[in-house]
Amino acid sequence: MTDFSVENVIIGAGVVGLALGYHLSEKNKEILILEKENDFGKITSSRNSGVIHAGLYYPKNSLKRKLCVLGNKLVYEYCKKNHIPHINTKKLIVASSNDQIEIIENLKKQAEINEVEGVKNISQNEVKKIEPLIYCEEALLVPSSGIVDPIVYMRSLVGKIENTGNMIAYKSNIKKINYDGNNFNLLIQNTDNKEETIIKCKTLINSAGLFASDIANKIEELKKEFIPKTFFGKGNYFNINKDLGIRHLIYPVPNEFSLGLHLTPELDNSVKFGPDFEWVDNSNDYTVNINKKEIFINEIKKYLPDLDTSSLSPSYAGIRPIIEKNDQSKRDFNIQTVDIHSIPHLVNLFGIDSPGLTSSLALAKHIESLLS
Ligand SMILES: Cc1cc2nc3c(=O)[nH]c(=O)nc-3n(C[C@H](O)[C@H](O)[C@H](O)COP(=O)(O)OP(=O)(O)OC[C@H]3O[C@@H](n4cnc5c(N)ncnc54)[C@H](O)[C@@H]3O)c2cc1C
Repeated sequence: MTDFSVENVIIGAGVVGLALGYHLSEKNKEILILEKENDFGKITSSRNSGVIHAGLYYPKNSLKRKLCVLGNKLVYEYCKKNHIPHINTKKLIVASSNDQIEIIENLKKQAEINEVEGVKNISQNEVKKIEPLIYCEEALLVPSSGIVDPIVYMRSLVGKIENTGNMIAYKSNIKKINYDGNNFNLLIQNTDNKEETIIKCKTLINSAGLFASDIANKIEELKKEFIPKTFFGKGNYFNINKDLGIRHLIYPVPNEFSLGLHLTPELDNSVKFGPDFEWVDNSNDYTVNINKKEIFINEIKKYLPDLDTSSLSPSYAGIRPIIEKNDQSKRDFNIQTVDIHSIPHLVNLFGIDSPGLTSSLALAKHIESLLS
């Protein structure tokens, strides 16, 4: 069994672990990212909408609001500087009936409170001019929303991490963690040859997404009262593989569970619809049930009434890690440090669901500030 030491270990090469790895690497920190899959970003970070959110939906004092608004700017800056495919498409949130107008009015007020700039009402006629296929009574235009290619973005982060001499160790499954008062000792098993390695580190960041609670449960010294249960909220997508001429993100008003079954234009101008929301027990089942097609059609037709749905096909699914099951308004990123669990140099990231992609670089800065 080999045995070696490194200053900082990040568990998870999803977009958040990679953004943090990049940020710390830029500060000349020695880091190792441990990832159980054979490549980066294979779980939630490549199974999302790829939307750069503006930050208007979340309560003012939430981490989601703070990190999304900052993250939005940071992701655009990073993409421009590093030639990552992205488009500032802007977003229309559409009231498809008169009783939804009050909801978009409230969203506009929330946008002002949240310091999301430039959000404005636009009339049915104005919507018709910019998106002739979209039906609504009224809409909100959100100028800072957009889309990004999450895979190219993550590949760029990986390149920058590796250029500094830091590493990502793939096929590394965490079996056991203990804290000896100074260091964390991690027992790692290679998922191919089952070889075991012990890695010692000063600082440990648990960025394991859907499995962050499982990882936390492996830390022998961490009291169970600090480990929330992670629930799984599956989101399915359907797509149409042709250019409908729609260039804005089109969102219905949000519902009790999610932002609603929205339309996202892809970078190649095809369109996808979703995600919907369903609680699941299995965190590995990404099949999209074809029987959902009728439900999708009913929802899409509310804002896109003339859509030819014959080519609407099941596409992919992603799973949200959710730690607050009942009250969506309380669903925030949950970042636990020594102040909460009393173990120095340990950061646990729980409930990093949407807008985790948008917030990734802001989360990285925030975590670094917590560590120092
Ligand atoms: C349907 C859906 C739509 C979304 N849409 C958007 C959007 O449009 N915009 C937006 O901003 N956000 C969106 N999100 C949220 C965003 O995708 C996530 O917040 C983000 O990807 C979380 O990244 P992560 O690095 O925390 O987690 P992950 O991507 O899950 O990465 C965690 C990594 O940890 C690894 N890991 C787990 N267990 C172990 C172990 N035992 N040992 C080693 N490694 C381990 C996993 O293999 C994985 O690679 C969406 C999410 C979903 C599900």
